[in-house]
Amino acid sequence: MSLPAVACPPTSADRRIVIVGGGYAGTTLAVRLGRALKRRPRPGVEVLLIETSPCQQALSELDLVAVGPERPEFCELWLPAVLKDLPVRTCFNRVEHIDAERRVVVLAGTEEISYWRLIVATGAVPFVPPVPGLAEHAITMWSVADAQKLQTRAREQSKLAASMPTSELRRQALSFTVCGGGATGVEVVGTLGQLLPKRAAEVGLDPHDLNIHLVEGRQEILYDLKPAQRARARQRLSKIGVEVVTGSMVERVNDSSLTLADGREVPASTLVWCGGAKADPHAAQWGFALDNAGRIPVSAESKAEGFDDVYVLGDVAAFRHPKDGRVLPMLAQFAITSAEHASRNILAELDCGPTTPFIPNQHGEFVSVGPSWGVGWMFGLNLSGLPAIFMKRLTYVLYWWQVGGLKLAWKRGRELLAMQR
Ligand SMILES: Cc1cc2nc3c(=O)[nH]c(=O)nc-3n(C[C@H](O)[C@H](O)[C@H](O)COP(=O)(O)OP(=O)(O)OC[C@H]3O[C@@H](n4cnc5c(N)ncnc54)[C@H](O)[C@@H]3O)c2cc1C
Repeated sequence: MSLPAVACPPTSADRRIVIVGGGYAGTTLAVRLGRALKRRPRPGVEVLLIETSPCQQALSELDLVAVGPERPEFCELWLPAVLKDLPVRTCFNRVEHIDAERRVVVLAGTEEISYWRLIVATGAVPFVPPVPGLAEHAITMWSVADAQKLQTRAREQSKLAASMPTSELRRQALSFTVCGGGATGVEVVGTLGQLLPKRAAEVGLDPHDLNIHLVEGRQEILYDLKPAQRARARQRLSKIGVEVVTGSMVERVNDSSLTLADGREVPASTLVWCGGAKADPHAAQWGFALDNAGRIPVSAESKAEGFDDVYVLGDVAAFRHPKDGRVLPMLAQFAITSAEHASRNILAELDCGPTTPFIPNQHGEFVSVGPSWGVGWMFGLNLSGLPAIFMKRLTYVLYWWQVGGLKLAWKRGRELLAMQR
């Protein structure tokens, strides 16, 4: 949900910390700074969070909204409630421009806000390559609105299938294809595979008429996981009726199917595109250096090159791991931990203390393959099935706990269980 542009009148603060983007990184930072300033206020300091929407979208659980019961609010974190007892001002508006030389952000409607420290945390958007027909026919998976689109589409296709006289026509109407065999695509197709048969049976359709595919251009799915874990994920997908098609790129798309470069055709009356992400393209126009992928390279302290007063966090940042020099992947866990670290550095700067480099640590990674089964690793230990899905969900319950306290974590945890059915 986005609101009409609102004015954000300036205050007299001379050390204003402006956070642009209230996703995993921005919200974590706002909450951390807010709590610290509540415990020990500093004179002339203000935290201002500028975000287009009052709801943070919990992207990692979108697949459940797409096929679960109609409870979209499950996936949204209401920022005014999370921040209500903290000394954090919010402004629900879009930042149109940043002038880092003049130290101002420009909001929609040309209002300018000056800053002492700026945090750019505007995330990423889906990357949709220029494949003929793709943009017109595919649903991306990047917001609750996208997930609802898929839910509506599934309902419409079920109605259509119910009116079809033959199994062949019903299978075409009920053909669901997800493109992209990374974590997001596997999560979405896994949930479709596990829950769509139930939804079909509820409306009197034969679940055998469902026709669900996962398409990946490379030879394998889930490249970030070890081969044994990938094989387990494939077995699970096969068990829940998902056919995996790998080894050829999508060449063109129409309203009922897609054609691969090797000539294979995959039915796709409903197509979901999970083929990648790119850093917020607007941030690319704000005068910071960019890497080849369009992300903003940052220093060991997560600051934009050449700007000691600008932090860049989360998906929009290209943070190189100090050990192997690789840019961190776009993951919520890095957005959250880099924001936690930045909050400590900003507080140190407020108190004229030393700042420290961010050392990212990845202790685990989990992918759901359907709502009740997962695969991944933790502290070098491979996990699959229930323990893995438990760990995946626990990570997010912990996030809600960290930003919203026990009450929110409890509420969200219960909603999460309800969404699995
Ligand atoms: C379907 C899906 C599933 C995922 N699952 C997982 C998972 O299981 N585990 C994991 O670790 N990661 C997962 N990810 C990745 C994870 O969601 C991202 O890495 C994470 O959201 C990055 O956090 P962020 O704060 O950088 O950006 P976001 O959380 O995307 O937040 C960016 C915010 O900036 C706001 N914004 C953008 N431009 C402006 C502007 N100009 N002015 C004001 N506000 C602006 C946006 O409205 C948004 O709220 C998933 C992603 C998707 C799409």
